[in-house]
This record gives sequence, structure tokens and C-alpha cells, in this order.
Amino acid sequence: MLLLVIDIAKKTERGDTMKELDILDGRKNQVSTVGGTNSQAVEGNKRSLAGSVSQRACVFCGSRVVLYPIGDALHIIHGPIGCAAYTWDIRGSQSSGMELHRLSFSTDLHEKEVVFGGEQKLYKSLIELIDLHQPKAAFVYTTCIVGVIGDDVEKICKLVEKEKNIPIIPVQAPGFQGTKKDGYKVACEALYTLVGTGDRPAQKYSINILGDFNLAGELWILLDYYKRMGIHVNATITGDGRVDDIRNAHKAQLNVVQCSGSMMYLAKMMKEEYGIPHMKVSYFGIEDMSDALYEVAKFFKSEELMSKAKELVREEFSRLMPDLQWYKERLAGKKAAIYVGGAFKAISLIKALRLIGVQTVLVGSQTGTTEDYELIKQLADEGTVIVDDSNPVELAHFVKQKHADIFIGGVKERPIAYKIGIGFCDHNHERKEALAGYEGMLNFAKEIYSTACSPIWKFTK
Ligand code: SF4
Repeated sequence: MLLLVIDIAKKTERGDTMKELDILDGRKNQVSTVGGTNSQAVEGNKRSLAGSVSQRACVFCGSRVVLYPIGDALHIIHGPIGCAAYTWDIRGSQSSGMELHRLSFSTDLHEKEVVFGGEQKLYKSLIELIDLHQPKAAFVYTTCIVGVIGDDVEKICKLVEKEKNIPIIPVQAPGFQGTKKDGYKVACEALYTLVGTGDRPAQKYSINILGDFNLAGELWILLDYYKRMGIHVNATITGDGRVDDIRNAHKAQLNVVQCSGSMMYLAKMMKEEYGIPHMKVSYFGIEDMSDALYEVAKFFKSEELMSKAKELVREEFSRLMPDLQWYKERLAGKKAAIYVGGAFKAISLIKALRLIGVQTVLVGSQTGTTEDYELIKQLADEGTVIVDDSNPVELAHFVKQKHADIFIGGVKERPIAYKIGIGFCDHNHERKEALAGYEGMLNFAKEIYSTACSPIWKFTK
């Protein structure tokens, strides 16, 4: 089925006319306009509708992006080579040590294994790779075809674990068994098998950072802030992640969760079993970055931590503001469209854009919940379109209708922006520019300015 565009002429804000988009019936409650006739709540957490080309990835991909940054573990994909190629080096996650995550291993299943089973091939691949790379653990991802042929992956993992004496963890993620978000849950379950198996001594003011993936070295920026405050970071899950740190993750006093869509499930399991509380934060934009540091200081009820956090924020703020003011003057009046993986990040982006004079006119995400969209609605300006699990036709339509000058998204949104002839900012896994923290806010402003104000766009109109 194709998305239908019906021929109803509609006046846009600039006075020109464009066709109204006929949203598929089954998706109508996933699109809303703040203050418009369709301002109902946006329903999140739904499976993608057949016929609507989703921007979402599969369950396997969801699990792979979460576990991928663990640099001293072997990641082997049990399936046809395409699943591995599709997720090879999928995040720009940097590592301060081993970089096993950057290699893509696959059992490369063929017709023979589909008929007779791929267990032997998996066993041999694991033994060979463990001997060659000496990893601290191995994650074995199952894909669609393994879900169909029914290989007993758990049995093989147990066998190799016994033989090689390292954790071999099955990641049961056939692509067809749900949404990308289900893949996050599968990844959390896999991680949880490691948590609690280490016996490192606990430290004072100790936190785990959950849901930062060290894209372009962002985690290292955060580690510096926490160090300046006197906070001990016990484990980073999974950016620059290490198996031994994850094994000792239960020794922290607090789980600080960014990208809550992917990591909240792990935080909840740790709360239930180890009593470790968790808090949701965002490290994007000055406001949310500062709030994250204050909230952590507040949690430990320490005057000393709080005064160090205030000092840090003051220092960074006064260093940053003159530069941001320069960008704000040049970006005044520009409009942005946002389509990202998790809705929580979109909330920070709206605030960060506002700080540099940019109005957000379209906000969407792949995995947001109804509650996330309600928060976005409260924050967004009148007329902003909010959309869940969108597709290229809808996104292109709303970007044009709202006259956005910049599209902020990931690899699948980049061609939409360039085809329309507007600026693009990569805020997804593949980004090469650190966008978190105070330094990240400045990089973000620079990137938005250089793309939105590029002279190239006058030749595309
Ligand atoms: S949908 Fe299935 S076959 Fe396609 S990449 Fe995901 S796991 Fe592999």
C-alpha cells in the first residue's frame, strides 16, 4: 500500500499552497499539531503499521546498538552476512582501550545451515574468535533466520562458556519479534546477566552512567565534569564500556540514565534486585546538562558536591555564552525539524535550539512514549507538528509545510533534508562531532549555523 497524497490545496504560513497529506487511518493518532484541529495526545510505543515505511530499525539492530560500544567483548552475529553488514560499526562509539566492537563477526549462514542447522558453525566460530582475540566476554546475537530454524543458541553458549571460562551471552533478537525498542530490552537482559558477578569494593559518591554511548568521545567530556565535582564513575554502560565494570555495576549508589528508552529497563532491574535508585537526565543543551549535575549533587545530599557543581556550571556558562550569543544573532528566525530515536533527546533539543534563537516546528521520534509526547507538547510552540514512528513521505511533507531550514536527525533523515534542499545536522549514532555537555552545545550551535546559513541553499531553491 502506498501513502496517498490528496489534492487539497492548503495555504501555508508563507502564503504559498501545498497538498494536504492524507495520513493512513491506522496512524492518525500518531500525528498531532500543537493547538491545531488534530491536537490529540500522540500515541507512542506502537508497532509500525503495515504499508507505512517506518524509519525504525529491527529488534536485532536495537540490541546491537546498545551492546556495541563494549570494546573488550566479542560481538558475533549468528545469521546471514547482511545482518552483520547492516550494523557494522553502527555507532561512532570511541574506546580508550580495546576496540573489538569495531569488528563485525558473523556466522554467515547459508542454505546448508538453514536446512541442517547452524549450531556447529556457531560453535566453531566462537572457539576460533575467542582464541584469536582473547575477549572478556562474548555476545551472540540471534537474527530472523535463527528464530525461524530454531538453533539452540543457549546450549552452544553454555558449552563454549564452560570450555573457555568467559561469559558467553545469548542475545535473543530475531528482527521480526517486535520493534527496535524490544531490542533495547533484550540488550538490557543480556547486560543484566553480567551485573552482580564482580566483587570490587564500593566507593563513596559512586554512580553508573547508563545510556551514553561515547559518540565522538562525549562520555569523556561527562567524566571530566563528574571528576571535577568529586563523583566516582563506577561503570559506563555502554559507552567505552568494559565487561569487568559492568560485572561490578551493582556497587554504585546511583544509576544516572540518559537515553532512558534504551536503558531504563536495566536501571529498573537493578533497583529491584540491588535497591539502586535511578534518575533520568539529559546531557544535551546548557539547561539539561546543568540540571543533570545539580540533580546528582542533590541525590548525595552533599553541600560540597553542590557547590562544586555550581562552580562548574558558572565557569562553563560564562565561557560559552558570548559565543552562543554570536550564533543566536545569526540564526534568529530559523526553523528546525527534529526526528530522532528517543523522544527524551528531542525535549533537550527543543530547549537547546531555543537558546540559539531557532524555533522548532516539527518533532518526532522512533521510540517515544505517549508520556514523552505529552511533555513535548507542553514545551513546543503553537503549530508544531509532533509525530511518532514516521516515514519519509510524512517527514518530507511536514518539513516543507512548516518551512524548516534545518533537519536534525540521523542517517535515514539526511537524504530527506538534502533532497528538499535544506541544512542537516547529524544527531544520531553516526555523528562525528561531540554534541553533549557544554563543549557539545557550542559544537551544536556551530553545526546548526554552518548548515542552516550555508550559501549553498540559495542554489537549490
Ligand atoms: S530484520 Fe531480520 S534479517 Fe533483517 S537485519 Fe534484522 S535480524 Fe537481520
